[in-house]
Amino acid sequence: MSMHIPFEAHYAALPDRFHARMAPTPVAAPALIAVNHRLARELGLDPEVLESAEGVAMLAGNAVAEGSSPLAQAYAGHQFGGFNPQLGDGRAILLGELRHADGHLRDIQLKGSGPTPFSRRGDGRAALGPVLREYILSEAMHALGVPTTRALAAVTTGERVLREQPMPGAVFTRVASSHLRVGTFQFFAARGDLEAVEQLVAFARARHDPGAETALDLLKGVIARQARLIAQWMGLGFIHGVMNTDNMTISGETIDYGPCAFMEAYHPETVYSSIDQFGRYAYGKQPEIAVWNLAQLATAMLPLIDPDKDRAIDVATEAVQGFADLYQAAWAEVFRAKLGLISDKPGDAALAHDLLGHMAGAGVDFTLAFRGLAEGVDVVRALYPEPERFDGWAEGWRARLAEDAGPAETLSARLKAANPAYIPRNHRVEEAIQAGLTGDFAPFHALNTVLQQPFADQPEHAAYQAPARPEEAVRETFCGT
Ligand code: AMP
Ligand code: MG
Repeated sequence: MSMHIPFEAHYAALPDRFHARMAPTPVAAPALIAVNHRLARELGLDPEVLESAEGVAMLAGNAVAEGSSPLAQAYAGHQFGGFNPQLGDGRAILLGELRHADGHLRDIQLKGSGPTPFSRRGDGRAALGPVLREYILSEAMHALGVPTTRALAAVTTGERVLREQPMPGAVFTRVASSHLRVGTFQFFAARGDLEAVEQLVAFARARHDPGAETALDLLKGVIARQARLIAQWMGLGFIHGVMNTDNMTISGETIDYGPCAFMEAYHPETVYSSIDQFGRYAYGKQPEIAVWNLAQLATAMLPLIDPDKDRAIDVATEAVQGFADLYQAAWAEVFRAKLGLISDKPGDAALAHDLLGHMAGAGVDFTLAFRGLAEGVDVVRALYPEPERFDGWAEGWRARLAEDAGPAETLSARLKAANPAYIPRNHRVEEAIQAGLTGDFAPFHALNTVLQQPFADQPEHAAYQAPARPEEAVRETFCGT
């Protein structure tokens, strides 16, 4: 008897060329690592049932729930600027969609669930390390208020997967507003399958932009969502690390926590990913890469925007160029809040840029510096080897704060609400992974607990605020593949 889950099958109702219908491949010995109780309940699922033997069997791909129409999704994508017409879910299976308590649909997907027709040379599996990483990072991003795919569960498989060396295998259950990517549109556009692009536009409008009447409206919706998303990343020092077009969503959620990292010492050229040799996806490059990706989406939709090609190019270009203003506005809003400013004044963005400018020169920890503003300028000052430039800036900041009518006594609370004390620091993530590899998930659970309240002081967990000591520092991150 397999369990019944009231999945809806919207993506599965699309024509055959959108997906390959298939079930996950069973694993040797599934064992539970974690179920996200709160998210499970929001999806109408009973966390205790998910934690039962039956539930774990489903989360490992050993049993397919009644009501599920499992499938692998087709997509393409530009990877580091080079187009690959055929990517697709090579190690993931969409089980179906569920209605979240907020009224919107969510995809429920297993990642690491075995080979599919899209696996190319891959084994279809996921190693435990990257699964723990995605769980920690995506839930941390959610708690930080950033649109993101979520972690519903993680299980070990009792099997080994061969990476640089044999590693324990795991399956991750990902929840997303949808898994539509820029690359999904590119898949069909590259084949000249206009009918499919049209169906995809209709699907995406229904799911993400009920107000959008045309393909152009949808494009503009994606552009607006991505502008806000990237501004939020910038405000947290988040570096995605692999902003390929198959890793950019239509929903505006962050997806694919491979080699991503939260920057410690601030510098716009920071790169962590071992595969990003030329810094294509460096922290400071993210907005311009977003524009590049959105131009690919616009290109894929072009024939639907206007039958007259020149006119289509004109309006699509204008829409993509609109990113700049949307992004600047979102960035200014994020950094105004980070500086505790209430009103919106012309010099505010420059004030933020000025601070970042001398932070970059001084190698100051991004998260500590902004959080420090809530504790007093002396706390921030102490982070600088030569604080003179900061002192000058702090004077200007105080003068600017005095121009706001807002109550000065709430300044510290405002700053704390905009500047997290806790981010998933790379060495803490690494510590949780290393323990997990020995079968000890206590550090993983402890880290998740702290990261659920990133803006709270949590004095008992103050150690998690500290940047890595030199010997702990993680200078490079690796893809999950
Ligand atoms: P990612 O780097 O996770 O964004 O994946 C890029 C592409 O490679 C996608 O088509 C994945 O499905 C595929 N892929 C990644 N890892 C594997 C794997 N272990 N087995 C099969 N396909 C994979
Ligand atoms: Mg991907």
